[in-house]
Amino acid sequence: MTADTHLSEAPSVNGKEGIFPPPRTFSSHAHIGNVDEYRRLYRESIESPETFWGRMSAELDWADPWKELLAWELPDARWFLGGKLNASYNCLDRHLMGPRRNKAAIVWEGEPGEVRTLTYQQLHWEVCRWANLLARNGVAAGDRVVIYLPMIPEAAIAMLACARLGAPHSVVFGGFSSKALRDRLVDCGARILITADGGYRRGKIIPLKERVNEALEGVSQIERVLVVRRTGKPVPMQAERDRWIEEEIQEDDAGCKVTPFESEHPLFILYTSGTTGRPKGILHTTAGYLLGCALTTKYLFDIKEEDLFWCTADVGWVTGHSYVVYGPLAIGASVFLYEGAPDFPRPDRFWRMIERHRITILYTAPTAIRAFMRFGEEWVEPRDLSSLRLLGSVGEPINPEAWLWYHEKVGRGRCPIVDTWWQTETGSAMIAPLPGATACKPGSASLPFFGVDPAIVDDQGAPALPGRQGKLVIRRPWPSMLRGIYGDPEGFRKTYWSQIPGVYFTGDGARQDKDGYFWITGRIDDVLNVSGHRIGTAEVESALVSHPKVAEAAVVGEPDPEKGEALVAFVTLRQGEAASESLKDDLRLHVEKQIGSIVRPKEILFASSLPKTRSGKIMRRLLKELVRNGQIEGDTTTLEDPSTIAALAKEVGQPT
Ligand code: ATP
Ligand code: MG
Repeated sequence: MTADTHLSEAPSVNGKEGIFPPPRTFSSHAHIGNVDEYRRLYRESIESPETFWGRMSAELDWADPWKELLAWELPDARWFLGGKLNASYNCLDRHLMGPRRNKAAIVWEGEPGEVRTLTYQQLHWEVCRWANLLARNGVAAGDRVVIYLPMIPEAAIAMLACARLGAPHSVVFGGFSSKALRDRLVDCGARILITADGGYRRGKIIPLKERVNEALEGVSQIERVLVVRRTGKPVPMQAERDRWIEEEIQEDDAGCKVTPFESEHPLFILYTSGTTGRPKGILHTTAGYLLGCALTTKYLFDIKEEDLFWCTADVGWVTGHSYVVYGPLAIGASVFLYEGAPDFPRPDRFWRMIERHRITILYTAPTAIRAFMRFGEEWVEPRDLSSLRLLGSVGEPINPEAWLWYHEKVGRGRCPIVDTWWQTETGSAMIAPLPGATACKPGSASLPFFGVDPAIVDDQGAPALPGRQGKLVIRRPWPSMLRGIYGDPEGFRKTYWSQIPGVYFTGDGARQDKDGYFWITGRIDDVLNVSGHRIGTAEVESALVSHPKVAEAAVVGEPDPEKGEALVAFVTLRQGEAASESLKDDLRLHVEKQIGSIVRPKEILFASSLPKTRSGKIMRRLLKELVRNGQIEGDTTTLEDPSTIAALAKEVGQPT
């Protein structure tokens, strides 16, 4: 067996054929309905970018048309030079001219159950009033504004109000602690902070305002805190600094002139999830980012006027920026927003909302799908999900087992699944199937989107042999790419542009099969080297998760004198399953059968939960530290639940 060729081109899933062509009924109505058309457009986007982007950029409304497509001097790319536009205008004003004016822009459900709908006209009105309020508080173009809100319509309103003024926002996920909030607001140098008196999560109120007060202790840089009244609960307000938005906002202050900004005007700063280390403050600018979002939303999610699109990500993550706010609103779609926990009051909350609002497109993360699998299909089966026509996945490689469950139990075998590979840095989805054109292979994000030029290279930067695992790089700039790490040009160059000369380094491992499909095999830092074979974590974990008793798995390497590295697998079990020595043997055998004896885990450790980032990704680096050093010293600020580490250490018999 040579390295990395242990999987066939389309591995079967549960004994079933591993290729899912787009359903014909879907293709016949899709924006792009066959793979030849995709290939033709893709070729054009790479070979004649001027023509391609010349046409596609008409998706946006420009105050001044751009003159030069790209100025590229590594690592600095500037797109659509000479062009001027306003992101908020593109997401709002331009939809008010025609039949979209009274269409729902946002349909929102709070965790306690209330529903609010904002039409484009109403959203525009709110955004204008907020923009005026911000301007009265001294916010001008270029000023950073931190947004720390629950998933309520005001989160989108705040973002668009900032965009209207050309003030880059930095949204901090409402689940983050005061320390994480402080780090971010200090790093981006904001003077204004927008928050709420709380938000609902699992029936409790998240004390956002209290956390803000804590974060601002000893920090004088924030001059004004604007507070949304969400829960009505009394919160401590500091007289000089803090203001209730409802008291400050002026009812008759509806108009707000739009200023067009240059294409490269900064739109936002957003911190990465922190899966591989300390989060980085990623800077995105206006035109390229917005265009990337608009096009991917339209083509990858095949959005039509009548769709109700639900991207379940919090606006605190890039997925929420691009596919809750900027992408869908730029193309005039209706989005659904939900405030709370997926299992509140019961594990069928998602399915009930899809049923009630007749949601047509659902875009969520593998971690959520695996959680639903663990709850059991009895929660999803009774619900009427016939409105759904498309499903999406993002955040981690999706295990084929989870893909199939999603396809059968949620999509009822009808809906294409769009597995989108991308990063905070890439701004919009990069590798993903076009639902009406690309045949899906569970576990593969498939083919590149227009203008995206990915490749797999070896450690020296030479093209990897077909089928071989290597580093995923992007060989040319794309419009929605990051423009830097805020305040750290050296880090920008070092992290992304110097590891492999001349190309963008993603930090992810992948391989490409003979059909050209990309398979993300995990983080480069996590790649295992067993007896000279490079093994991605994703494949071993998928093999483990395909065992009927396993809910989730994380695999890390432990130094081994013979093999270089030996595999240690952390496993959580499905509800009702018990850990035992014989199950360990069973699992070893199962992995061996699925992939080969080389990946037989040396150790299997049962855990009650795995350490994850706040965005739900497994943090293998912490497990690796635990296995190797018996303790954890790495950055844990984005850890979802700090108690998992102590629990894990106890479960695996290590001191912390
Ligand atoms: P940090 O960069 O701080 O370590 P992070 O990489 O988790 O955190 P994000 O930008 O939120 O921060 O996540 C991007 C990463 O998520 C990708 O590099 C990839 O590893 C993973 N990812 C996202 N979508 C997919 C997907 N569809 N398939 C496989 N991996 C994915
Ligand atoms: Mg990353």
